[in-house]
Amino acid sequence: MIVRKSAADIEKMRAAGRIVAEVLETVEKSVVAGKTTTEDLNRLAESICRERGGVPTFLGYNKFPAAACISVNDAVVHGIPGGRVLQSGDLVSFDFACTLNGYIADSAITIPVGDVSPEAKELLRVTREALYQGIAKARVGARMGEVASAIQRHVEAAGFSVVRELVGHGVGRRLHEGPEVPNFGKPGQGIRLIDGMTLAIEPMVNVGKRETVTLDDKWTVVTKDGTLSAHFEHTVAITKRGPDILTLSSEAPELHSNSVDLKVTAR
Ligand code: MG
Ligand code: MG
Repeated sequence: MIVRKSAADIEKMRAAGRIVAEVLETVEKSVVAGKTTTEDLNRLAESICRERGGVPTFLGYNKFPAAACISVNDAVVHGIPGGRVLQSGDLVSFDFACTLNGYIADSAITIPVGDVSPEAKELLRVTREALYQGIAKARVGARMGEVASAIQRHVEAAGFSVVRELVGHGVGRRLHEGPEVPNFGKPGQGIRLIDGMTLAIEPMVNVGKRETVTLDDKWTVVTKDGTLSAHFEHTVAITKRGPDILTLSSEAPELHSNSVDLKVTAR
């Protein structure tokens, strides 16, 4: 079901999104190669979220056992935090959502640990750019296929592949609402975007083939061919003024150095 949000609803989601942005920025800065575990990151994220009055949305969602999804290297998404010590060269996809006053925001980044390979750097650059290419198309009157194809085209032009088994989603009072936001498709396909939609746009990009498998823990999705994967996500409101990224910290503009043809209406 697609739930249109009022301006007031969107501001409530922005308040949740500011907490998510602070969590991601703090987590990114805290990673120390050879020392930090994924559980350390999970605990840090949960404590920041709760200190700000929020609740970590993933904890207990379909029985997920942690506050954050932390997916290392060939893990695409939905990794469960634990005792793994992060090492130089690792890519850590960190996905977090916060519920504040009944409204949810969802965002993810992929963090390079220490010195990563040139290929890993390229994967991060392309995946982040693909997110902003998709966001730039998320405008009133456009079709979902324009968002999806912008992401797919950017990724495939770089020789990488987009995951298809998992897609972005509407978000609001519930973590997963309609519509689906695929990272592949053709312009002219899909539903038309309207004012008040709030979408979690989240390209998942593999260095190798696009196929994934789920591990025996029933959660962690990994690339089938074992190659690296990256994930970037923002929660975005479709407004008459253009796409409005809700998962930004209050002093955010510098985050947009990667934005492509995008007038950010965040304040
Ligand atoms: Mg997410
Ligand atoms: Mg999401």
